[in-house]
Amino acid sequence: MNRTFSIRSLFLTAVMLCSLCFLTLTAYSYYDMILIRNSSSSLVRESIPRVMNAQRAILDLERLKIYINTIEHSIEPEQAHNAYMDASTLLTETMFDEDDVAVLARNVLNKVKLMWQTRKELMTARYDMMRTWGYLALAIDRLERLDRQADAAVLQPDDFLGAMYLPNADVGAFAASSAVKQRYTAAVERCHKAAEHSALDASCNVVTTARRQMELHFAAFADAKEKLHQRTAEIEYMIRLMSSSYTQNEAVVISTELGYIRDITTDLTHYLLLIGVFAIMSALGLYIAVFHVVIEPLQQITAFINRFNHKLSVEGMVLPSTHVTEIHKITALLHRLFDDVKKMTSDSERITQRYSELLTLSYYDELTGAHNRRALELFNRTIEQVPPRCAVMMVDIDFFKKFNDTLGHQKGDMVLRRVSTCLIKNTAESDIVYRYGGEEFCIVLQDIDKDKLAAIGARLCQSVKQLDMLNPGNDNKPVTISIGISPVTQVSGEWTLEELIYKADRALYEAKSSGRERFVFYHENQEGLL
Ligand code: GH3
Ligand code: MG
Ligand code: MG
Repeated sequence: MNRTFSIRSLFLTAVMLCSLCFLTLTAYSYYDMILIRNSSSSLVRESIPRVMNAQRAILDLERLKIYINTIEHSIEPEQAHNAYMDASTLLTETMFDEDDVAVLARNVLNKVKLMWQTRKELMTARYDMMRTWGYLALAIDRLERLDRQADAAVLQPDDFLGAMYLPNADVGAFAASSAVKQRYTAAVERCHKAAEHSALDASCNVVTTARRQMELHFAAFADAKEKLHQRTAEIEYMIRLMSSSYTQNEAVVISTELGYIRDITTDLTHYLLLIGVFAIMSALGLYIAVFHVVIEPLQQITAFINRFNHKLSVEGMVLPSTHVTEIHKITALLHRLFDDVKKMTSDSERITQRYSELLTLSYYDELTGAHNRRALELFNRTIEQVPPRCAVMMVDIDFFKKFNDTLGHQKGDMVLRRVSTCLIKNTAESDIVYRYGGEEFCIVLQDIDKDKLAAIGARLCQSVKQLDMLNPGNDNKPVTISIGISPVTQVSGEWTLEELIYKADRALYEAKSSGRERFVFYHENQEGLL
């Protein structure tokens, strides 16, 4: 019994420990989940404005690129100027909230100013170039005109000479004309020289000067254009830098946060697996504990009571009213217990309490506190054979009916209680007092001999008498008891408890008939007394 109890205690302790672990793990995981939820929501809260800000900044940078492009390529000076103003405003007013990006933005603003300077230089160079180009065109035009005039001047003598070579010209005429020709050729040469040295030369000089100027202006223009291109490239590079700086910063922040959340989530998955295992173990343990500690014993009790009821109905015994009440109580309690088990299997303490109440009610007499008939029958079933040094005493209160009739049943109940207590007190612990029926008690004594039995019989009679309970129905004499004693008389041979009870009853009958307030041992002659 004790071993079973300790195993069960150990088992229950293990179950409780499992449940405790489960609870601890659950609490820990709950804490982790709260952490994850908080960090996720703060990440989202912080990231959304940052991402939106980054998006807006990147859009601004795209606009800036368009302005820069316009400054570089626009032919309209006014359009280029507007683009410059827009770019400056954007770089001054836009909030670039990353520190390094803000520094870049300031640099870009300076570069844009420089670029605008270069653009202005370029425009001046273009203007100079255009103007020089006008001069050059005029000079070339004039030069061509002069050239044509000079050619005409040179051609006219050729025409004249051509005329001189006509087929119909005669030798005389030719001779005459050759002097003229010489003069004319000389004139033409003079004319040529004059032309070369005067207007043509002057025009050539103008063209040459204009061309040099043009070359200078073009060089300035090309230089300015190259510078402008370089600055544009620089600004575009810086814009790319700003853009990537923004996206990189955001990416680093977000990936760090996500890494943190990933770690916690991985941990949490492990905890959840553990919790699952512990939950299954706890549930299983609890089920086994409740089944073995509560349900199974209760089922045994129910079976026992069913068997008992069946036996009663088959043998047609009339149960004393107190037993019927007890069984009703037991049945009611059982119903309640089963309901409780169904409802609250975990509340094992309460069920154990009820279980012990039920046990008490099952084997003890409610009125007297002695063991009841059921306990006596259980004892009879559990022993295979009556032990060799065993004995049975049947005790009956004398003239109890008269007591009841004069003082009432409530006072009679009090007498029953006091007599029962007195019998229990005056017998050994191993001797068990059963309430056999109405005012009759059956005492089963172990390891005893006849002398001791006689001493106990005398002591019990004396003790009850000394309780000083007067019976007005019997001339106010003290309440007394009569006892019939039946010991196991032979060491060999099989004795049954029924046999011993029967013989003690016979002896009691003799005690009553021979004057009461005494104990009598069983002997063969008593058989004929009925
Ligand atoms: P005797 O000396 O021959 O034994 O006489 P008696 O009056 O004691 O015997 P009898 O069998 O005639 O009466 C037993 C009485 O016990 C009858 C009944 O009123 C009473 N009795 C039985 N059970 C209880 C009980 O639980 N409470 C009370 N108060 N009385 C009971
Ligand atoms: Mg009686
Ligand atoms: Mg009696």
